[in-house]
Amino acid sequence: MRISRRNFVAGAAAIGLARPSVGAAAHTAVQATIHSDRFDPWIEVDPSALRHNVGEIARLGGGRPILAVVKNNAYGLGFDAVGSVLDPMEEIAGFAVVKASAAITLRQVGVRKPILLMAMFAESDGPDLVTHEIQLSLCTDDAADRIRRLAASVGHPIAAHLYLDTGMSRMGMPYHRALPWMTTLASRDDLRIAGTFMAFTEETAFDHEQLDRFTAVTGEARRAGANLGQLHAASSNGVFHLPEARLDLVRPGIAIYGGYPSRPEEERAMATLRPAFRLRARVSRVQQLRPGDSVSYGRRYVADRPTWIATLPIGHSDGYPGQAVNRGRILIGDNLYPVIGSVSASHTIVEVGDERSVQVGDVATLVGPDHPDITPNTFADAVGVSVYDVMMHMNPGLPRVLL
Ligand SMILES: *Cc1c(COP(=O)(O)O)cnc(C)c1O
Repeated sequence: MRISRRNFVAGAAAIGLARPSVGAAAHTAVQATIHSDRFDPWIEVDPSALRHNVGEIARLGGGRPILAVVKNNAYGLGFDAVGSVLDPMEEIAGFAVVKASAAITLRQVGVRKPILLMAMFAESDGPDLVTHEIQLSLCTDDAADRIRRLAASVGHPIAAHLYLDTGMSRMGMPYHRALPWMTTLASRDDLRIAGTFMAFTEETAFDHEQLDRFTAVTGEARRAGANLGQLHAASSNGVFHLPEARLDLVRPGIAIYGGYPSRPEEERAMATLRPAFRLRARVSRVQQLRPGDSVSYGRRYVADRPTWIATLPIGHSDGYPGQAVNRGRILIGDNLYPVIGSVSASHTIVEVGDERSVQVGDVATLVGPDHPDITPNTFADAVGVSVYDVMMHMNPGLPRVLL
């Protein structure tokens, strides 16, 4: 295992960005290796899988540049690990996050490409964000005032994207009153509009309506002379299912990490995504139960015959979902073992069976590419959670190892 973090952070220092600032998110740096006598769970990140997935997305996206969504600690894989792999890639035009602290953290770990904050920014954070070359999103009626004050305080024009609401009703300027807002903003010389974007509801029929709204209002603004920068709308779902939404950039998240966004069966036929991480732990106890012995809180499992079980020191506080009991299986060696009893904060127990086929210290893979039943999508479906939750709930404090 090789570590690329040192070089990567040296890059950040060289451009004068490696300093603490606006509530940079707690995150765990990439480690070189996991010592074989340690029992803390960990996450392995596979750069070749990330690169492969980016290639697949680029192909599906007809070669459009990719604005990589790395929110929520890069979908659980880690800002540091993911940033170091994606930043140098030609297909990657930049990064997008939803928290100001995440934007700053990405710079601090060494990302050099453009970073878009797809959220409200606090005026008190504005100068720090701008100093770190974070592109802001504008979405409110007072956007021009906010830009005027910020540009005055930093002494140069501000780079930002216009965020339009075409039907999500979550963030953005509602499209039906966006036209004068856009043309006014586009006429300011203290603002450089780098892009204009929207988010889909991912309801198939309505997505087309949303795209029509976006295309109509941006078209009108452009005809009125507004420079709107690059248009972008498609998340992973759009990359797969809405070719007309590719626009100037595509903006996927989950597919980069190897998760199929909406309809895995159909999507597998369109692209081969590789899960780019493994959630792992080492067996910390192996024990034979006697008939009548029970397992864990609530005694939801009682042995009816002599049965071997194994304990893994990883639980729901690490991100392994409690719903996995009786539904999920865990790979140890070449075998899958069912999760029994209950998942506690820091422990999960599997039924090994009649033979003692598992030893203390064996490496278990809870989610990863190594067996079809434990890929993020199949695991999520089996246990009844969303594939987004499987990835994004992985505890940011777990050590990340870059393979
Ligand atoms: C999360 C997010 C994305 C990426 O979505 P995926 O489904 O993970 O591809 C794109 N755009 C916005 C605004 C988002 O919040």
